[in-house]
Amino acid sequence: SIKGQYGKYFAPYDDTLRNRLLKEQAITDIMESALAKEQFQIYLQPKYRIEDEKLVGAEALVRWIHPEWGFQSPAEFIPLFEKNGFITKLDQYVWDKTCAAIREWEDEGLAPISVSVNVSRADIYNADLADILIRIVQKHNLSPTHLHLEITESAYTENPTQIIDTVRKLRDLGFIIEMDDFGSGYSSLNMLNEMPIDILKLDMKFIQSETAKQNSRGILQFIIALARWLHLSVVAEGVETQEQFDRLKEIGCDYVQGYYFAKPMPCHEFKKLLAKEGDAGENSVMDAMKYT
Ligand code: C2E
Ligand code: MG
Ligand code: MG
Ligand code: MG
Repeated sequence: SIKGQYGKYFAPYDDTLRNRLLKEQAITDIMESALAKEQFQIYLQPKYRIEDEKLVGAEALVRWIHPEWGFQSPAEFIPLFEKNGFITKLDQYVWDKTCAAIREWEDEGLAPISVSVNVSRADIYNADLADILIRIVQKHNLSPTHLHLEITESAYTENPTQIIDTVRKLRDLGFIIEMDDFGSGYSSLNMLNEMPIDILKLDMKFIQSETAKQNSRGILQFIIALARWLHLSVVAEGVETQEQFDRLKEIGCDYVQGYYFAKPMPCHEFKKLLAKEGDAGENSVMDAMKYT
C-alpha cells in the first residue's frame, strides 16, 4: 500500500488533508439541520467611543456550538460556507436575529444603538441583497441606519465596479457601510476616494504587530488624517491592551472594539451591559445620521 511505501513521510500530511476534507463534508452534510436546530448563535462584541469610553454599538459574530464537536471557529466554517454557498442563508439568519435583538432593546427602552453585521463577499453577488436587507429591517420595524454592513476590504478589490454599484445602492437606502479589515488588502487611495463607504475598520494585525508599534504613530496618523479628509469614521478592532488604546486615543481614532473592553458575548449578556452602560444621548445611530 501507499502507506507501506511512504508511511513515515507522507501519511501524516495525507491524513491531515483527508481529515480536513472529511470534516468539510461532514459539516456540509449537517449545516442545514444545524441551522434549523438553532445551533448557530449570535454573539455581540461591544463597540466603544474612544472619546468618553461609552458603549455605542456592537458587532454581531456568529458562533456554532455543536453538541458533540463543541465550539467551531468561524475562521474555519465561514470560508467553507462561502465555498459551498450556505453563507447566504446563514448571513440572512444572522441579520434577522440581530434586528430582532435591536427591536427588543428598543421596545424595552434601552439606549438606541446600531449593530454591525458582516456581509460575506458571496452575498455581494446576490442580486436580491438590497431587497432582502430592506425586508429584514422592515420586518422588525427598524430603519436601515440601525445596521452597519461590514464588507471586507479584499472583496472591494476583487471586482471593484460591481461591488461599488451594489454598495452604493445599499448606502443610498440608508445602511451604514464599513470597510472591514482595512489595511489587509490592496485598495488604492484613489479607489478609497470613490468607495461609497462611511467607516474604516482597521485590520487588527495592524494594531497588534510589533511593526505597527514602532511605525504606528506615522502610519495610523496618516490613515486617520486621510479618513477625516474623506469624511469617514475610524474603528480599531483587536484592541487588547491599555497601551494600544492610549495610542489610538492620542491619534484621534473614533471607536474601538477588542478584548481590552469586552469579548463577544451572548445577546442576553450584551443586553445587560447595554442597560448598564448604554449611552442614551449621543450614540452611533446618531453619529451615523451625519452621513445620510
Ligand atoms: P471580523 O469580521 O474581522 O471579526 C473580528 C474577529 O476578531 C472576530 O473573530 C472577533 O471575535 C475577533 N476579535 C475581537 N476582538 C479581538 C481582540 O481583541 N483580539 C483578538 N485576537 N481577536 C479579537 P471571529 O468571531 O472568530 O470571526 C472571524 C471572522 O469570521 C470575522 O472577522 C468575519 O470575517 C467572519 N465572521 C464572523 N461572523 C460572521 C457572520 O455572521 N457572517 C460572515 N459573513 N462572516 C462572519
Ligand atoms: Mg467584521
Ligand atoms: Mg472580516
Ligand atoms: Mg475585521
